Amino acid sequence: MAALGKLLGQRPLLSPMPLRIKRMLSSLPNTDEDDSVSVTSAPPFGHLSTDHLALKDASRSLFMSKFNPLLKRMDDEDWFPHDAWLTLAKHGYLGLTIPQKYGGVGLDFLAAGLVAEELHYANSSLGISHSAHDNLCANNIYLNGTEEQRMRFLPGLCDGSFIGALGMSEAGAGSDAIGSMATRAVQDPSDGSFVLNGSKLWITNGPIADVVLVYAKTVTATGAGTGDGRASRNAGVSALLVEKAS
Ligand SMILES: Cc1cc2nc3c(=O)[nH]c(=O)nc-3n(C[C@H](O)[C@H](O)[C@H](O)COP(=O)(O)OP(=O)(O)OC[C@H]3O[C@@H](n4cnc5c(N)ncnc54)[C@H](O)[C@@H]3O)c2cc1C
Repeated sequence: MAALGKLLGQRPLLSPMPLRIKRMLSSLPNTDEDDSVSVTSAPPFGHLSTDHLALKDASRSLFMSKFNPLLKRMDDEDWFPHDAWLTLAKHGYLGLTIPQKYGGVGLDFLAAGLVAEELHYANSSLGISHSAHDNLCANNIYLNGTEEQRMRFLPGLCDGSFIGALGMSEAGAGSDAIGSMATRAVQDPSDGSFVLNGSKLWITNGPIADVVLVYAKTVTATGAGTGDGRASRNAGVSALLVEKAS
């Protein structure tokens, strides 16, 4: 197997290749774990590099053998397989786009998309849990969080200790989530803490998450608190990191 090397356009896919992904790529078919699945050669995706195709094949092999058999019980019994989550972590599939500095894998979005596609193909229930965790929550914290927040939450989200979620939708706030949002976060000026009031709906991983990125309005609909005096129904929405234990 050629080492993971270059993206189309000569950008490095991984630099350097994380050990966990190395392990994953070395566990292509014919290992003990994967003997129940025959991986057909990748379809002719001309725009994908050899490394992307190898990642896609390795992902499909693992996900079909380990996770596809769990799908029926997950759907029938509303059951979440925590062991499967740890398997994802063990094989390097959590924190796909998170830099290694924070415990992630450091893949590009195309690679992460290919993994997501294979996971949803094998087990759509686990797939949506993974997408909410890895993209809506972890990647969001990486892109928008402070360094302190990154260091506090990302390692656990990448090693399988935490399950992440994002809470934006509400009963009256779907497509117009920001404009119609009723959840409010009021800051206590004495210590800077926030009191959250509201309810969310359809939050993937909601019942099992350890960390939830909750969106709430921190100013009134008239724009009070934005500092520039402009009224906007979209103004003043903040994302607050809520630990389930809190
Ligand atoms: C499987 C699943 C997982 C989800 N996970 C999460 C999650 O993790 N976190 C979270 O915050 N939310 C989550 N959601 C909620 C999701 O984001 C909302 O369902 C979505 O925002 C749409 O809102 P709605 O269902 O209220 O539909 P509505 O907003 O009521 O829309 C209904 C229909 O009207 C159309 N429509 C709406 N507005 C307009 C307009 N102005 N012009 C024309 N057409 C319009 C829409 O396209 C749609 O077809 C999840 C939903 C599903 C189904």
